[in-house]
Amino acid sequence: MAGTMQRSRSLPTGCATAHPIWSDVMEINYGNTIPISTIDWHGRVSIVFFLRGCPYRCPYCQNYELLKENNMVDVSELEKSIKKSKPFVSSMVLSGGEPLAQKAASMHLASFAKENGLLVGVHTNGFFPKVMGEMVKEKLVDKFFIDVKAPLDDTRLYAKAIGCHDFSLSLKPETVLENVRQSILLTLESVDIELRTTVFRDFIGSVDDVSGIARSLLQLTGNRDVPYVIQQGVPDNAMLESMRSMEPYNRDEMLELAMAAHEFLDNIYIRTREKGNEKVKFESI
Ligand code: SF4
Repeated sequence: MAGTMQRSRSLPTGCATAHPIWSDVMEINYGNTIPISTIDWHGRVSIVFFLRGCPYRCPYCQNYELLKENNMVDVSELEKSIKKSKPFVSSMVLSGGEPLAQKAASMHLASFAKENGLLVGVHTNGFFPKVMGEMVKEKLVDKFFIDVKAPLDDTRLYAKAIGCHDFSLSLKPETVLENVRQSILLTLESVDIELRTTVFRDFIGSVDDVSGIARSLLQLTGNRDVPYVIQQGVPDNAMLESMRSMEPYNRDEMLELAMAAHEFLDNIYIRTREKGNEKVKFESI
């Protein structure tokens, strides 16, 4: 889990700034960095930071090394990386792990990126709506990429997806679902969002599962145009060893899943190893 960092808000003396740097000196429970990425925010070139810790234990997690141990580094190291990448990127993405488990670190990095003229995106599992609300209020984020791991009214399936069974996670799925719903609602009107599901054969992502997710999103948002991405899960490096031999869905199967979601949503993308990020054109299928 995240380190115990305290927030202390500091404003430069006598200087009005739209994005004050949050906390003067702090350590961050840090995973790693991609200095230049074109796949973590499609359409943009980003520097990506992976922060450690997450309240979930999704059996398919590819980054589970980030859930094990702490690695505290001084925030100035990450600031230096931002400065280095700045000439080549237009945005910074916080990913993980669950970056918002480290509220002060996320707010600090977001405000530092903003001060340096970068847009800010956050990959999140939606468990921390209050942190998201605060970041929205402070105008620290331009886009949230929010996981929707199962239908938002199906506690049994959500519990399975986040590892309640396989890893004896003690989180209450009802609380998780309420938090994810709140996260989506509070960001829907204020910043760009992408809602996304990573699908794994025989685990999460049958036609019924994806149809249920799309139905629950329409029910929650009342908006058929909310951007929804179905991501091809590749389980080679899944946390749960028994998942690693599962065959990923192929592109045709991904399109079938998109068709199932299309009963409820119109703005659907699939993301595959074969073809990357594609907006699904239903009229040509
Ligand atoms: S896949 Fe699940 S466990 Fe892994 S970082 Fe994301 S939300 Fe956390």
